[in-house]
Amino acid sequence: MKINKILVANRGEIALRVMRSAREMGIKTVAVYSEADRQALHVRYADEAVCIGPPPSAQSYLQMDTLIEAALRRGADAIHPGYGFLSENAEFARRVEAAGLIFIGPSPESISVMGSKLAAKAAVSKYNIPMVPGVAHAIEDIEEAKREAVLIGYPILIKASAGGGGKGMRIVENEEDFVEQMNRAISEAQSAFGDGSVFIEKFITSPKHIEIQVLGDKHGNILYLFERECSIQRRHQKVVEEAPSAVVSPAMRQAMGEAAVGVARSCNYYGAGTVEFIVDEQLNFYFLEMNTRLQVEHPVTEEITGVDLVKEQIKIAEGQPLAIRQEDLSIRGHAIEIRVYAEDPKNNFLPDIGQLKTYRRPQGPGIRVDDGFEEGMEIPIYYDPMIAKLTVYAKDRPEAIARMRRAIAEYQITGIETTLGFCDFVMQHEAFISGKFDTNFVQKYFSPDKLAGSPGNAEAEIAALLTAHLMEHKKNGTANPLLPVQSNKGPSAWKKNRT
Ligand code: ADP
Ligand code: ADP
Ligand code: MG
Repeated sequence: MKINKILVANRGEIALRVMRSAREMGIKTVAVYSEADRQALHVRYADEAVCIGPPPSAQSYLQMDTLIEAALRRGADAIHPGYGFLSENAEFARRVEAAGLIFIGPSPESISVMGSKLAAKAAVSKYNIPMVPGVAHAIEDIEEAKREAVLIGYPILIKASAGGGGKGMRIVENEEDFVEQMNRAISEAQSAFGDGSVFIEKFITSPKHIEIQVLGDKHGNILYLFERECSIQRRHQKVVEEAPSAVVSPAMRQAMGEAAVGVARSCNYYGAGTVEFIVDEQLNFYFLEMNTRLQVEHPVTEEITGVDLVKEQIKIAEGQPLAIRQEDLSIRGHAIEIRVYAEDPKNNFLPDIGQLKTYRRPQGPGIRVDDGFEEGMEIPIYYDPMIAKLTVYAKDRPEAIARMRRAIAEYQITGIETTLGFCDFVMQHEAFISGKFDTNFVQKYFSPDKLAGSPGNAEAEIAALLTAHLMEHKKNGTANPLLPVQSNKGPSAWKKNRT
């Protein structure tokens, strides 16, 4: 069935991203927005826009019936959920379909199977997919689990079956702590996800997170679009992603790709999806979970394959068979994405809110910016603090890294702390450059002093000098001739005004 108008049930960069592909396909778009997003770019970009409620997402972007009514009223024939919000909500997908609309995503059944890490493990068990050693059922008898944990070997990771976004995990270092950590994990899972089911896995101490993009149509065809390396994480959440991975050989790529297709097949998957794997030091890979939506980091895959994943999602939702075959796909060049968050890397990556006083995007060859803001706008406190995704594409990895450093240097953001400086630190780190890094990268190599003192950062060096100068004056009780009074916060105040 041809789709003529799509309501995009999301905000920010991903709403714009979806609308852009729709526009290229001649499809009209309807934006939705909360009262905090009246001026947002996705609202101005869309052909029509509907206000759906007050700022908190529970009263706007998560209001299923309001969204469906808006779609019906505006004559949309489909809803695209983006990522986050209702994108992995099987109930929403079901209600959209019950209203006679097309849900641009997988079936409600696929969403519910893969939304539960335990149901997912059960579904894939017949497909010969490598799994992390562990217990693949909800733990009821803690003493029994404690015996199993000894066999698996410490450290152990306790995971909430319904967890997501890096939440709901606990590491247990030794047997003595097991019972206490288990009880905590269960009550946390119950209160955070409304489901106290937890299970245990071997905690892989130096893992890489590598995931495979898949596309499936409604006729049983499933393809893999290679891997994304997402090991640079803070709080189990990704900040830097790239494709292809520096450590994956063609044989490993094929094995992972075929395993991912098996995972997708196990739940009769259609649409775009991502199968996440954890990879140990010997490069053994294990299935972690499947995300049944477009992923934040999908642009790196688009850059190296030339496939527009949103257009594919739309065509699949219309019922078209995939026009691409596995043998048509190949990797060209290298892409790296960084997430520019309104966060302060010097202060434990805590969210920073405020106004984008200066906001100038990098430009030139091989640069793609997906964002939803303009200079002068406020970053609302109600939603995810991601300002933008900066993706670079180049002929190979060294050129991509150099290009990313150039793009970061061109990116001008003031008024708010961002992860830009941190990402530049990553780009010049020897572990990143060599490809020999794992999910412990941030913990292992990063500390706030790495930002101010990083070589080549002339501004930071000047700031440090000025601070030293200021401290000298403070000690002497004299006013500093060089700095305005409100700037006595040291390098961070300068960083804020970085241009
Ligand atoms: P991805 O797996 O797509 O790279 P993350 O791992 O960072 O993304 O987060 C997993 C999912 O949880 C994403 O779909 C993201 O939109 C969602 N998410 C993460 N943080 C938040 C948040 N603060 N509010 C709402 N959704 C969030
Ligand atoms: P979520 O639904 O929160 O994304 P995942 O199962 O995908 O949960 O795990 C998120 C991250 O946690 C992974 O990218 C990895 O960094 C870490 N992780 C998950 N399982 C393990 C494990 N068994 N050993 C070590 N790290 C793990
Ligand atoms: Mg995950």
